[in-house]
Amino acid sequence: MIKQVPHLIGGEYTAGTGEKVITVTNPANNQPIAQLNCATEAEINQAVAAAHAAHLEWKEVAVSERARVMMRYQHLLKAHHDELATLLSSETGKTFEDAKGDVWRGIEVVEQAANIPSLMMGETVENVARGIDSYSYIQPLGVCAGITPFNFPAMIPLWMFPLAIACGNGFVLKPSEQDPLTPMRLAELFEEAGAPKGLLSVVHGDKSAVDCLLTHPKIHAISFVGSVPVGQYIYKTGTENMKRVQAFAGAKNHMVIMPDADKQTVINQLVGASVGAAGQRCMAISVAVFVGKSQEWIDEVAAEVAKVRPGLWDDPDAGYGPLINPAAKARVLELIQSGKAEGATCLVDGSEFTVAGYESGNWVGPTVFTDVTPEMRIYKEEIFGPVLSCMAVETLSDAIALVNANPFGNGTSIFTNSGAAARKYQHEVEVGQVGINIPIPVPLPFFSFTGWKNSFYGDLHAYGKQGVRFYTETKTVTARWPESGIVEGQNLTIALK
Ligand code: NAD
Repeated sequence: MIKQVPHLIGGEYTAGTGEKVITVTNPANNQPIAQLNCATEAEINQAVAAAHAAHLEWKEVAVSERARVMMRYQHLLKAHHDELATLLSSETGKTFEDAKGDVWRGIEVVEQAANIPSLMMGETVENVARGIDSYSYIQPLGVCAGITPFNFPAMIPLWMFPLAIACGNGFVLKPSEQDPLTPMRLAELFEEAGAPKGLLSVVHGDKSAVDCLLTHPKIHAISFVGSVPVGQYIYKTGTENMKRVQAFAGAKNHMVIMPDADKQTVINQLVGASVGAAGQRCMAISVAVFVGKSQEWIDEVAAEVAKVRPGLWDDPDAGYGPLINPAAKARVLELIQSGKAEGATCLVDGSEFTVAGYESGNWVGPTVFTDVTPEMRIYKEEIFGPVLSCMAVETLSDAIALVNANPFGNGTSIFTNSGAAARKYQHEVEVGQVGINIPIPVPLPFFSFTGWKNSFYGDLHAYGKQGVRFYTETKTVTARWPESGIVEGQNLTIALK
């Protein structure tokens, strides 16, 4: 019998009564591994009500005790690191080491959530007027919701609920319906760490479940990570329903390669950053911009990328796994075709790649294009596959102009030995996360994940101080305690000092 993925509602695991059933498959052969019933509106209401009730108790729990739950959770996640990575690999096809990285990046956010007492400190000023003090508190919002994508089923849920809950909120998570097993295990371990029942609910489903969350009057904030069209929909619908929304969306990330960079470093870094995780990373480098004479390295880059061999998650020699589903594979193959048809030169073509014994899996081999121009679809669209586009420009200013004209602004990097070039790039580039001789500059959780432009809709970014601000309100108190106990006289105008 196929495994049923339960919802976690109010601390109880239930298969649910939803009529729509979604099958979770192994992307290496598209065989079913589990199934879920999409949550009904009644079930989602129940999850929100439970999260709200739990929040009312939880926000009164000492902040250091809330931090201790996060410490125990961090410990449990580490103790179950391999087990979580194995589960994650089984439903995403990610290689084991990459799956461990997915979990690890989430653990680091839990570590940050364990710092919640200092993160929730307000501000104070004495004598804002004679004998009057002002100070602020950071208070939780109530119930927050998270809607997460398939490509990081551990890290991205962990960007959200630990910090929201450490702040004192209740949380309802709607993970990707394509890989819900890992988020469920994260939720089980969270309860094992001592989180009160109901504080975190996990409901499964697709658009209809998301719509219930977006319109639910008791949900105050929505965190979303996923594609551009869905991100725009979530941002518009959530804000129309008067909610705070942060929506992290798609990307097209450029690596700029200066002629004074170290060639071997560039090649080594570009290989993993472009085709690692089958290119299914929002921070993957999908465009390499070779400046001046560095164009001469393109053939060597292509030759090195061509050596990467996709394979099964437990094959230690596999560079990456399959794409998540057949539709994703078909989309990537169609984009590769469009690149050829639009005149790009295909130096390495992974369209026909397969893995022996797993021919029905969603494999795409590493693919490299050169002579790519900004008008081509392979440049304009997020491919989300193991496809690297190489472009050539004459100067650093040309490279900056190209990157800045792109509608996405998630991440970018520059490889150079010139401090002046690096300084110019970091200052002028209109992208929210910049790496200097670092290909994928994902900030650690004491900073925030700061994508720009079409890669992010909202104001406050994920984790770090901005994450805490997103999940809280500030309350400012102005207080007078006269020694005599009496405030003399009346004042009918605004006080001037
Ligand atoms: P997706 O947009 O298809 O799905 C994301 C979530 O939205 C899922 O939970 C899904 O059930 C839900 N959803 C799907 N269609 C919906 C609809 N019509 N209405 C409401 N909800 C809907 O994204 P995906 O394919 O799971 O993930 C890949 C995308 O995520 C890529 O574009 C990638 O760049 C992006 N991503 C961005 C970041 C970032 O930080 N900017 C990080 C990871 C992934």
